Amino acid sequence: MTLGIRPTADADATISSARARLDPEFASLLDPFLHQLEVDDETVVCGTWPDLRLAFLNKGWFLALKQHHPRPEESDRWGLGRNILDGIHGPLKSFFETNLRHCLEKSVPWHHRYECSSPNEFREYQMNVLPLPRQAGLLILHFLTERRPHEERRVLHHPEEQTFRDRDGFIIQCSYCRRVRKADGEPSWHWVPEWVATSPSKTSHGLCRDCLLAYFDALVDVDSPAATSVPPNNVVRGDG
Ligand SMILES: [Zn+2]
Repeated sequence: MTLGIRPTADADATISSARARLDPEFASLLDPFLHQLEVDDETVVCGTWPDLRLAFLNKGWFLALKQHHPRPEESDRWGLGRNILDGIHGPLKSFFETNLRHCLEKSVPWHHRYECSSPNEFREYQMNVLPLPRQAGLLILHFLTERRPHEERRVLHHPEEQTFRDRDGFIIQCSYCRRVRKADGEPSWHWVPEWVATSPSKTSHGLCRDCLLAYFDALVDVDSPAATSVPPNNVVRGDG
């Protein structure tokens, strides 16, 4: 499968949702990794400069964006030169920034598993971050590792605003499993398919306890940069 890389000198050009983008200056840095770039369209690949500005987006990147954000203007907002951290919300932003910078500065790969489910499917991804030689940037690949229909016994909840909006009017959604947190009582997270398909207004992001335990085991490893960057708290409000 080809990547359909199309070099462009115009970083500000309007982005087509099905077209890859590659900064010509970045292209030569990818030479040692070309064999890793022979991936299918479901694999999302991007490259960044050392300051984490995007220098490469593959076709899979735009296909995934279209899947998660069907509105065309969302694709138009993303292009070369934008900081990759702009797309990460809540407590995860500092977690990703810390680990990406660690990968870059120490020239060590970083791997992270995460969930990004749709209303109908459980989907899990593996992210591999590879440092480019001489700290020139990062190559980031996201592989789909598991995909299956949600369990039939999963309890569905209706999008009841009064149940889920907190006292400040926010709905808090887990960044990974995309369940939403009940507004009162003990923290509990629930599956509201309508709000996975379309985020309600004033959605904020956090991490539920299940995802914290499943994907952030590095929290207990004091030597890991992740240990200091994700608050050990499952109700942190983000800016999403
Ligand atoms: Zn979760």
